[in-house]
Amino acid sequence: MAGPVGAGPGVALVTGVSGQDGSYLAESLTKRGWTVHGLIRPGHSWSGDGVQVHHADLADSNGLVALVRDTAPDVIYNLGGISSVGYSWNEPYDTALVTGAAPIALMDAALQLQRSEGKAVRFFQASSAEIFGAAPAPQSESTPRVPISPYGVAKSMAHAAVAVFRSQGLAASAGILFNHESVRRPPSFVTRKITLGAAAIKLGFRTELVLGNLDAQRDFGWAPDYVDAMLAIASAEEPDDFIIATGVAHSVREFAEAAFASAGLGEIERYLRIDARFSRAADAPTMRGDASKIARELGWKATTSFEDIARKMVEHDLEWLDQHGPEGLSL
Ligand code: GDP
Repeated sequence: MAGPVGAGPGVALVTGVSGQDGSYLAESLTKRGWTVHGLIRPGHSWSGDGVQVHHADLADSNGLVALVRDTAPDVIYNLGGISSVGYSWNEPYDTALVTGAAPIALMDAALQLQRSEGKAVRFFQASSAEIFGAAPAPQSESTPRVPISPYGVAKSMAHAAVAVFRSQGLAASAGILFNHESVRRPPSFVTRKITLGAAAIKLGFRTELVLGNLDAQRDFGWAPDYVDAMLAIASAEEPDDFIIATGVAHSVREFAEAAFASAGLGEIERYLRIDARFSRAADAPTMRGDASKIARELGWKATTSFEDIARKMVEHDLEWLDQHGPEGLSL
C-alpha cells in the first residue's frame, strides 16, 4: 500500500463545497495544485473555479459510495450536511441522515477503496463543538460528548465513527470546529444576521434588528483560518482529533456591540428587539475551545481577532448593500 498522502497535491473530494468552508477549502486546494471534486445537492448549481462539480444527495448512501469509487480521492473532506443548530430542530431526522449517517457511508466507502485499490485514503470530518453540549468551558479533545441539539447528536455520532474507522486502518481525523465566521456566512447564522442588519440600519434600509438569546457565549473564529487548520490536520503524519478554536469567548451581545460600532452606530439598545422565535429549545451557555493540542502538534493558531472579524464582515456588508440596495438583504 502507498504511504500517506501528506501535503499532496493529489485528488480531493469535498462535500459541502458550495458552503462557507467548502468554498474556501476548494480555493486553497486548487491553488496548491490539487484536483478537486466537489459534491453539491441535486438541483443546486454552483461554479467554483477549477472544481469538478458532482451532484449527489448526502441521504443516498449508494450515491456516495459510487462517487467515492468513481473519483478515487486521496483525501475526502466531509464538510456537507445540515450545518445550522437552529435549523436542526426543524428537521431532526434529515439532520441525523445527512450530518450523522452520511460521514459513515463516506468512511466505509473510503475504507473499501483503500482495501480494493491498495491506495491510502485520508478522511477529514468537520466535527463540531456542539458535540459537547453544555459542558463547562473550556472544552478540549477529552471533554465528554453530551449533545443537547439534534445537530449535536448527529455530529456526535459521526465523531465517534471517525475513531472507529481509524481503528480499522483508515487515516480518519476530526477537526472539532467552534463557531467560525466570514463574509460567506449565510444570514441564518447570528454573526452575518447582525453584520447585515447593522449595515442595513446604517444605510437606512431597516430600523431594527430582531434577535434571540444575546447572552450565549461563543468562541468566534475566522473561517479561512479554520480551513488552514483542516489542511494541516488532513496532511498530518498521524490521523487524530483536534479542537479548532481561538480560546476566547464573547457573547452574542458583544458581537452586536462590535458590529454596530464598526458600522458607526451608537448604543445597540436603540436598534435591537428580542423575540423568543429566535431562541432555541436548548442553547449552551458558553463554548470556548482549548486549542492547545493543534498549536503544540501542528503549529496552527487563529490569526484573526474578534473585533477584526466583526469589522471585516461589517465593511463587506456596507459595501454589498451600498451596491445592491435593500434587495441585497435577501441572500
Ligand atoms: P450555531 O448555533 O453554531 O449554529 O450558530 P448561530 O450563529 O446560529 O448561533 C450562535 C448563537 O447565537 C446561539 O447561541 C444562538 O442562540 C444565538 N442567537 C441569538 N439570536 C440569534 C438569531 O437571531 N439567529 C441565530 N441563528 N442565532 C441567534
